[in-house]
Amino acid sequence: MKRQTLLATALMMAAFGALAKQPVDTGHGGAVATISHEASLAAMQILDAGGNAIDAAVAAAAALGVTDPFSCGIGGGGFMLIYSAKDRRVIAIDHREVAPASFHPGVFLDAEGKELDWKATVPNGISVGVPGTVRGWHEALTRYGTMGFDKVLAPAIRVAEEGFAVGPNFHRINKINEAKFARFSTASALYLQDGKALPVGTRFRNPELAQTYRDIARGGVKAFYEGAIAASMVAAVNHPPVTPGTSVIAGGLTMADLKDYEARIRPPIRSTYRGYEIHGMPAPSSGGIAIAQALNLLETFDLAGKPRAEIEHLYLEASRLAFADRNAYVADEEFVDVPRDGLLSKAYARERAKQIGAGAAPGKVAAGDPYPFEDDRSVPLRPQPKPLAQESMHTTHLTVSDREGNVVAYTFTIEDWGGSGIVVPGRGFLLNNELTDFDFSGPHPNLPEAFKRPRSSMSPTIVLKDGAPAFTIGSPGGSTIITTALQTIVNHVDLGMSLADALAAPRMSQRNGETTLVETLLGFPGSEQAKALEAKGHKWRETDQIGAANAIRFNPDGTVTAVSEPLRHGGGSAIVQKQ
Ligand code: GLU
Repeated sequence: MKRQTLLATALMMAAFGALAKQPVDTGHGGAVATISHEASLAAMQILDAGGNAIDAAVAAAAALGVTDPFSCGIGGGGFMLIYSAKDRRVIAIDHREVAPASFHPGVFLDAEGKELDWKATVPNGISVGVPGTVRGWHEALTRYGTMGFDKVLAPAIRVAEEGFAVGPNFHRINKINEAKFARFSTASALYLQDGKALPVGTRFRNPELAQTYRDIARGGVKAFYEGAIAASMVAAVNHPPVTPGTSVIAGGLTMADLKDYEARIRPPIRSTYRGYEIHGMPAPSSGGIAIAQALNLLETFDLAGKPRAEIEHLYLEASRLAFADRNAYVADEEFVDVPRDGLLSKAYARERAKQIGAGAAPGKVAAGDPYPFEDDRSVPLRPQPKPLAQESMHTTHLTVSDREGNVVAYTFTIEDWGGSGIVVPGRGFLLNNELTDFDFSGPHPNLPEAFKRPRSSMSPTIVLKDGAPAFTIGSPGGSTIITTALQTIVNHVDLGMSLADALAAPRMSQRNGETTLVETLLGFPGSEQAKALEAKGHKWRETDQIGAANAIRFNPDGTVTAVSEPLRHGGGSAIVQKQ
């Protein structure tokens, strides 16, 4: 279908109210759930034009790069999980940012060998990893898609050109970034007005990003990783476009770092839970392993008929134990020997579950010893007890399915809200600060090294039952990504909630801390649910909201339900094809 026809179709459907933004939709066709209505519409346009879920996922992601530029974009990286209906298997495309050749373990230490301050390190060239997003999209489209960049980038190019009205959520995150953007002339020009965040209602256009997308549409993946766009990224990292009087730590990125960047096609983490097959993201994300391990721990308990508070208590404690291990052992497996088989073993879970008592653990627990449960015990790596490194909450997750039965669960990011704050001159996109996801000092498996990928928490998850997709879930939110996906699975599978209710329910994030993070947005503190858990010794730390998840349920009657957020992040957009 021609672009004009697509636009006309969208306008016509909008006129009939068929495409009003809503958090849940059910139907028989392809489905999409994202946090941005423009992105969900972009995916629908591609599905309606005959594209598959992979084509539509890239279209949605490109649109999110325009409408949610502080969470994601082509200056960052991500993890895409694909269920290929034809192959009846799940594939993981790792396009995490990689450290440049100039990196080394002391890169985030000062002259005395002390760790640099995390927050102060973010808005600098040194925090920028080689972006993986465009390479990831290319791999997804060429291996599993049916369309090229020219078609799938068209809806996003239109959104970037025509613009959209700044909403409260865009404004909120823009405001958080005022000081960061003020450091860089390009970010100030694009995202500030007289040094302040763009007011709600401002029409925001990004013609330079539209042109960058057009260059990629014309020149393909090479147009991004070689030539003029690559040269402008190298210049922006090594000589950041700072405003007068701003001091900055430059990076050491080269054209070769960009040209040599590769996405990795990896086998996913596969585990089972109460008759479901759970597929998650392998290292360098810790998400797949941590979710599988926590579910293995929970599976050792018979939850049937147990009161809600008991099930939630076990969920919190299982998460605590899984996080102790995740923090100690998981990093880029191309560099370190992660005891993955031990961590995923059901026998290890049975042993470790003995530590879960009737009440909450009084505080942090030590990492366990998965080595006896490994096949290969030749290289034991003992855990390094370290506090949880700083990981705050950003990013975006989207999900798409199509009529052929393909499913995509895709989380991508530029790390912090607004990433490094460096907008590439003339190109309209922000560069990531993903390299601050490394641990700054060691010994630790997640230390910075040249060509290494920092450990992530991103957890796109696809769940099968009897060999066919049952549901998919994923979320943004730093290390709370893991608990959001995990809790949604427990709510749905063990508490029997619909997937929509499971996703909307108040979230509790226990990551081996003294307290559990909970949400004020949904009135959890002071609720009966909270009190029942307090009686078991759980203590809370409050935040306004955790994550902005998206999900799809493949219903037994053959219909599909797309699920987004009713409230968090301003509410998301779920659409199921109607024609
Ligand atoms: N950098 C984080 C990770 O890879 C994602 C950013 C976030 O969600 O806050 O896990």
